[in-house]
Amino acid sequence: MCLMRKKMLAATCYVCHGNRAILVRDRLRFNIKRNVLRCVNCGFVYLERPHISKKFYAGKEYRKHHGPNLAKKSSPKEIFEMYLPYQHLIHESMGTLLKSGTKILDVGCSTGHFLHSLKGRVNTRVGVELSSEEVAFVRKNLDFPVYDKPVETLHIPEGPFDVITALQVLEHVEDPITFLRNLGKHLKPNGHLYLELPNIDDVLLVAYGAKGYETFYYREPHLSYFSKATLRRALSKAGFAGEIRTVQRYTLMNHIHWITAQKPQSNFDLGMTAQLVPHAKTSAEKALNAFIERTDREYRDLVGKLGLGESLVFVGKKRS
Ligand SMILES: [Zn+2]
Repeated sequence: MCLMRKKMLAATCYVCHGNRAILVRDRLRFNIKRNVLRCVNCGFVYLERPHISKKFYAGKEYRKHHGPNLAKKSSPKEIFEMYLPYQHLIHESMGTLLKSGTKILDVGCSTGHFLHSLKGRVNTRVGVELSSEEVAFVRKNLDFPVYDKPVETLHIPEGPFDVITALQVLEHVEDPITFLRNLGKHLKPNGHLYLELPNIDDVLLVAYGAKGYETFYYREPHLSYFSKATLRRALSKAGFAGEIRTVQRYTLMNHIHWITAQKPQSNFDLGMTAQLVPHAKTSAEKALNAFIERTDREYRDLVGKLGLGESLVFVGKKRS
């Protein structure tokens, strides 16, 4: 294993175009055989190509295996209902970017839960999504336009935008720098780009060395695994400058579960829960829940500040 980890391969880095990489591992989630490489020059971690095409997202294949519920495929309605209650965490993180006059584009909007949560809070909401099932759900149930073509080639009549968000999207795109440059074309000169994406310096990998998590972490649809440093480099090449921080949204109890069981909790809701007593009724039960909620908040703030939160957050602008 040690020898394998040091194996050097010829491969072109998608961030710095360096041409040598170290093999990090050769298996993904579900034991899929695929090399994970780390660029020798800049440290960027990525899947060896060739990989899945945009058609993978347009059809039903992606959600068959990847969604908020690990036990079964979720319908667009289930995805919408599972994620909607947690959108306030993103609102908090975006702070003053959300104003009543804001015109916002969400790229990779999935079932539209984030844009729906902004109803009445911003002026104009527009989505872009490749999954035909999820686009159909938004068009049938929600009240904002959604476009189903790659943002790279899209003309959006509502643009340009004050804010563009891409939440857990950058890790899926084939060429991150070109994608980011293309986002910039839809942004007003002084507009803001807001990104959330997985952080490879996740506390479960870096500090706790949770082997079960590592096996789960690297997955076929995630082509890029950014750190603060490699994300900053990619954004800079794409013409953006701003602040990068990390946030921890999964709870302390989720981490204890990973450390002790070395496997995921069965759904997204459980991973976001910081309660010892479900449906607490008595004052003792409520006091126990209040304790874990306080402790969880303190823990997640600490992990985020240490730069080890599960997600990287970027807020910035195009360089003038
Ligand atoms: Zn590189």
